[in-house]
Amino acid sequence: MSTLRTIGIIGTGQMGVGIAHVCAVSGYEVRLFDIDERRLQAALEALDQSLERKVAREKLSPGEAKAARARVSTGDSLETIGKSDLIIEAATEDEGVKKAIFEGLTPHLSDSTLLASNTSSISITRLASVTDRPERFIGLHFMNPAPVMRLVEVIRGIATSAETYETIKAFAHSLDKTTTDAEDFPAFIVNRVLVPMINEAIFTLYEGVGSVESIDTAMKLGANHPMGPLELADFMGLDVVLAIMNVLYEGLADSKYRPCPLLVKYVEAGWLGRKSGRGFYDYRGEKPVPTR
Ligand code: NAD
Repeated sequence: MSTLRTIGIIGTGQMGVGIAHVCAVSGYEVRLFDIDERRLQAALEALDQSLERKVAREKLSPGEAKAARARVSTGDSLETIGKSDLIIEAATEDEGVKKAIFEGLTPHLSDSTLLASNTSSISITRLASVTDRPERFIGLHFMNPAPVMRLVEVIRGIATSAETYETIKAFAHSLDKTTTDAEDFPAFIVNRVLVPMINEAIFTLYEGVGSVESIDTAMKLGANHPMGPLELADFMGLDVVLAIMNVLYEGLADSKYRPCPLLVKYVEAGWLGRKSGRGFYDYRGEKPVPTR
């Protein structure tokens, strides 16, 4: 089994930052890359805040946080992170974007580099097929927020080797995560169950069965969910929720996965949830206010 030391992360949105945090705290050298220079700078600030939160909660000492931060650097091209031992892709949930990244990355890899995608729903087998190493390619699906959530879903593509699988499982355990295995079918396990539930909550809103607040209160108090489904959708990003529904709808060819038109409308408006300041709630004031 190979030993991993350097981890490249491509895409430094909310997931990329969270994964960087987890890897750096566990002693790995982390290199970050994003197509958008501003997102890369914002990622370093978000990482500082994320580490500070752990210090404030006494989960990390100030010294540990400082050492973790010092292990994170940024790169300005795919070439600079291509030689990492493991590269985790956490870019936008779009198959075309992800395939272009892996195609661009392939010429710059070391022979031994392992590739992983943090995709929420897209076929690992199809993503692996555009690289020169489908046997060293795997799905490694962190949950949001990565520094808090215990689970990592591990998804083997059709060609993923046993050695890659064992190395990646050991890596996830070294991050103090629990792994679960899912087969390579649309949206795997967590999102196959969770996201249609969120989509159904949006239909409930669309059809006027309840308001944003009544739906979230109903599911928090009636089903004991820690967050309401609309609050959770805003937290995940409505573009991510829609992308996952589309992968389910197209991949399983079943009308029960039809994305709710209201979800489509919010995404078309650029109301993507917390990350854009507005979704089913408006986050621009002191406390979130329902938008319907
Ligand atoms: P995000 O929108 O916050 O960030 C995506 C980042 O990818 C952006 O910074 C963007 O600039 C960057 N990017 C886009 N194209 C790129 C390219 N060609 N090269 C490099 N960077 C590029 O998205 P996110 O919520 O962090 O999601 C990222 C991935 O993680 C997606 O595959 C998503 O499905 C998955 N995921 C999301 C969640 C969630 O709750 N949001 C949970 C688990 C997994």
